[in-house]
Amino acid sequence: MGIDLSGKVVIVTGGAKGIGEGCVQKFVDANATVVSFDLDGSSLKNQASKYSKLESRFSSHLVDVSNEAQVKDAVSKVQETYGRIDGLINCAGIQTYGSVVDTTEEIWDKTFNVNVKSMFLTAKHVAPIMIAQKSGSIVNISSVQSLMSQKTVVAYAASKGAINSLTRASAIDLAIDNVRVNAILPGSVDTPMLRTSADMHRGEKSVEEVLSDWGAGHPLGRIAKSSEVGDLAVFLVSAESAFITGQSIAIDGGLSIQVPVILPGK
Ligand code: NAD
Repeated sequence: MGIDLSGKVVIVTGGAKGIGEGCVQKFVDANATVVSFDLDGSSLKNQASKYSKLESRFSSHLVDVSNEAQVKDAVSKVQETYGRIDGLINCAGIQTYGSVVDTTEEIWDKTFNVNVKSMFLTAKHVAPIMIAQKSGSIVNISSVQSLMSQKTVVAYAASKGAINSLTRASAIDLAIDNVRVNAILPGSVDTPMLRTSADMHRGEKSVEEVLSDWGAGHPLGRIAKSSEVGDLAVFLVSAESAFITGQSIAIDGGLSIQVPVILPGK
């Protein structure tokens, strides 16, 4: 039997595409009421028509989650409409490239504003509602790049490390009120972001070939589907994970446990 989140209200940021979209679908499947926050108006519109049959069980807000006034306004509208918030899944994020030498101050600030400040702002405005309820679960989408790195990802990798710290620090603050905070660390996931990245780095190869090569670097031999990250997010909001807080949980097909010197063998 699957997890049943009937009666639970869950906000998914960056909900219109990629991992956020996968999370929205999985929370809908688990019978939750889902609110999608995104700044991509046309993708939000398509998503609203996809879920139109759900009526009040799905809604969306056009919001830039790096802007406090917009976050505050959108969160209070969710609270006014549904009267509670049980889950906050912070998926909105951007991938930026640059070494420590060529990353501009503007790119650094934008990366931290969208990837880290947004998660602080949404938690800042949602947590008081969860504290009053004496229950809630916040899930921050980090990355395996918070643990390990590669070339030209200085701002992105630093922002992901900051998310793990933000997760631990807020988990300790909120634990006394039974509000849990965890981070999910995906490896490569098939999303518009990953496909853009594959296109940038493909050289003579097709995007599909690059994705297949990247998948082969994961011990399980493939990249993930966004729905697989959604399944973990649903678990982390459910009562089945009631004693898990402050954790950084990898969902990476074994990518982060492999020594990169591969010995021959089966
Ligand atoms: P994506 O670009 O495919 O989707 C991100 C969504 O967030 C988009 O709908 C976008 O419009 C929205 N968004 C971006 N900035 C926003 C803002 N300021 N306010 C509101 N919405 C905003 O990206 P994705 O691959 O789904 O990535 C989602 C998260 O997962 C990111 O934090 C990313 O760093 C992380 N992640 C992705 C992968 C991967 O392989 N795809 C791996 C590890 C971690």
